[in-house]
Amino acid sequence: MGSITLKGVRKSFGGVDVIPGIDLEIGEGEFVVFVGPSGCGKSTLLRLIAGLEDVTSGQILIDGRDVTTAAPVQRGLAMVFQSYALYPHMSVRKNIAFPLKMAKMAEAEQAARVERAAGILNLTDYLDRRPGQLSGGQRQRVAIGRAIVREPEAFLFDEPLSNLDAALRVNMRIEISELHKKLGTTMIYVTHDQVEAMTMADKIVVLRAGRVEQVGTPLELYHKPVNTFVAGFIGSPNMNFIGGEVAARRNAHTIGIRPEHWVVSRESGRVKGRVTVSEHLGSDTYLHVTLDDGTHLVVRAPGEFPVTYGEELWLTGAEGQVYRFDEKGMAI
Ligand code: ADP
Ligand code: MG
Repeated sequence: MGSITLKGVRKSFGGVDVIPGIDLEIGEGEFVVFVGPSGCGKSTLLRLIAGLEDVTSGQILIDGRDVTTAAPVQRGLAMVFQSYALYPHMSVRKNIAFPLKMAKMAEAEQAARVERAAGILNLTDYLDRRPGQLSGGQRQRVAIGRAIVREPEAFLFDEPLSNLDAALRVNMRIEISELHKKLGTTMIYVTHDQVEAMTMADKIVVLRAGRVEQVGTPLELYHKPVNTFVAGFIGSPNMNFIGGEVAARRNAHTIGIRPEHWVVSRESGRVKGRVTVSEHLGSDTYLHVTLDDGTHLVVRAPGEFPVTYGEELWLTGAEGQVYRFDEKGMAI
């Protein structure tokens, strides 16, 4: 239960192809993250799956059943948005039970499902409060509870953590991952944050301008990006790209080396540059280095790495960690 298939799904708004055509298989129980820059069509794709938008052409199947023209309620999916959209005058209990009440479910079954969801989300002690008396993280859990009680085939999350502060985002990220493990239900999670994608996903779908650039596990995308877009998007800080003579020496148009894949030396190396900024995090030092030809690089040195502004350093790409790309940006 909960497999989702997209076949040639296309969406245009007023003649503009926002999604030119997507084919995708989402397996039962998978945690799939759609990631890509703002405006690339993530929310539109999720809304098409949910039935909140009509496809221009193509097919959507849930468990092999064609739902392309089915109304949202007939698809058995539950969506959680960035804005919690809770009813402020209702208790947590009533907020969570709301979709069940709308579906005219028996009161006793409603109560049992709310209790179960509250238990899973650690909200049992808060059921009689109102949303205004909860923290941001608790409110988002109530919104998730409202999705859980419906016992959907799949959960659809659209940037659910964007409104939370950084520390809370990390906590909620872990909570949602744990929730997936507990429920085993298919989840599609949309974010522009590649760290969320890397840490949560079984499978990542990288989108650019409404097209799928690459599908894979987090580590497949990290180790074998198909092009410069995916290579630059996955990994933090971003991969460094170098063209010109340095790339030509390796028979490539562009080479890519991640910040964590440089060997730093004061004596010798492949390329020479000057330190313009150093960021000391304690665990690591990030060195911003400008090469003689003006190329700007970010280099991670483990631990504390004392440097002075303007100091000259030699850098070498670690063996086996240099990515090569052709003039179209495709991996070679
Ligand atoms: P994302 O969620 O990745 O930031 P969206 O799916 O919201 O991107 O939007 C993708 C593109 O589709 C954007 O260019 C946006 O302006 C356009 N778009 C989204 N919804 C509509 C709409 N209802 N009408 C017209 N254009 C839209
Ligand atoms: Mg969006």
